[in-house]
Amino acid sequence: MSNSFHTGFVCVSCGARFAPGQTDGACPACGGNLDATYDYARIGREVDPRAIADATDRSIWRFAPFLPVDPARALDGAGDVIRQVGNSPLIRARRLEARLGAQAIWLKDDGRLPSASFKDRASAMVVARAIEAGRTVIATASSGNAAAALAVMSACAGPQAVIFVPRTTPEGKLSQMLIHGARVYVVDGTYDDAVRMCAEACAKFGWWNRSTGVNPFTREGKKTAGLEIAEQLGRAEGGAPFRAPDAVIVPVGDGNIISGVCKGFRELFAAGWIEAMPRFYGVTATLAPSLYRAWQAGVETFDLIEATTIAGGISVDRPNDGAMAIRAVRDTGGIFIEATDAEMLAAMSDLAQSEGVFVEPACAAAWVGLEKALTNGLIRPDEEVVLQLTGSGLKDIRSALAAAADPGRSVGAMTLTRSRCKFDQV
Ligand SMILES: *Cc1c(COP(=O)(O)O)cnc(C)c1O
Ligand SMILES: [Zn+2]
Repeated sequence: MSNSFHTGFVCVSCGARFAPGQTDGACPACGGNLDATYDYARIGREVDPRAIADATDRSIWRFAPFLPVDPARALDGAGDVIRQVGNSPLIRARRLEARLGAQAIWLKDDGRLPSASFKDRASAMVVARAIEAGRTVIATASSGNAAAALAVMSACAGPQAVIFVPRTTPEGKLSQMLIHGARVYVVDGTYDDAVRMCAEACAKFGWWNRSTGVNPFTREGKKTAGLEIAEQLGRAEGGAPFRAPDAVIVPVGDGNIISGVCKGFRELFAAGWIEAMPRFYGVTATLAPSLYRAWQAGVETFDLIEATTIAGGISVDRPNDGAMAIRAVRDTGGIFIEATDAEMLAAMSDLAQSEGVFVEPACAAAWVGLEKALTNGLIRPDEEVVLQLTGSGLKDIRSALAAAADPGRSVGAMTLTRSRCKFDQV
């Protein structure tokens, strides 16, 4: 097949195994999610980590031995944007460290990827696989960011993007899908309704379904954030080319990002490129409680509970990659933490005003999680922590204005009427 280290897929529910290319969707036996497998022992023997860390190509495609596609072949003829996905900055949060008395806090800012969210990693991988497999239409359900990313990556690589989004999708994300030429269906319902409609349309029209939890290639794109974090930490220290932090904190909706970032570290560990695994902490919205309740009950089955949080990126009624998210947290010794809407809005202002980093509410959940984990002693102040930031604040400016309008935090909010300038407060 395309990549000599990629050995196939295993179903995370029933354990059935499939050869590369045998299936590109959910498990044909039970409908469960598939997880791509590789020969890590051979990667460890045959691939020089230094060659990847020092490659002049800084995109996700330099991790080719860990990928289920052959980037050189799949992206031949594609525009540059899809070939430049990756290498988002790892920012040392020095002012937050000082305030919390912590020693090493890093922000992995994926708001600075091409479509301004983490989802570029997944959509780029899916589009590359679509080209490789000759698929011309890719459909996805999304709360906004996955679809915006799919629209961008499709625009510069060929396939037609078809998108199903809930009516609550912020205008910023919607405008991205439209301007990049995707066909957009605004569903009169929730994200979970969009997921169902997208699956039905794919079954009917033969489109390839990119939706989270159905398409095994999204996690393969998302894991590149984990690979990059370890490489950037290695470079910061100047020792081994890859290095793991003590803890990673990730906002969680469907659970595909946390399971992906965790997979990146698991792979480096399996190849012998890092010495230990970081602990993973998942942060869910209090107003999207399905995954958190399953975690508390110690089960991997999820009730459908209507989500009402303003944090669109993590607003799910039932997580579509929940079991893998729970395993990422449980197997590494972390826990799940909940964040309220008010806490996320306050965290947005905090990150923006302490570090100059502008994030959307879902993303700010990671910062809420860190504050709580430090307060409760789950993470010690001397530990090194990475916050996975997932989306730019410009995606959802209504929430940003709501956060900034909090009277306790804003200074000098100003309203301009036709001829007068009136200061609300100074
Ligand atoms: C999608 C998304 C998440 C959550 O990712 P899941 O894979 O659904 O857990 C978090 N933040 C933002 C901004 C997102 O777009
Ligand atoms: Zn199965």
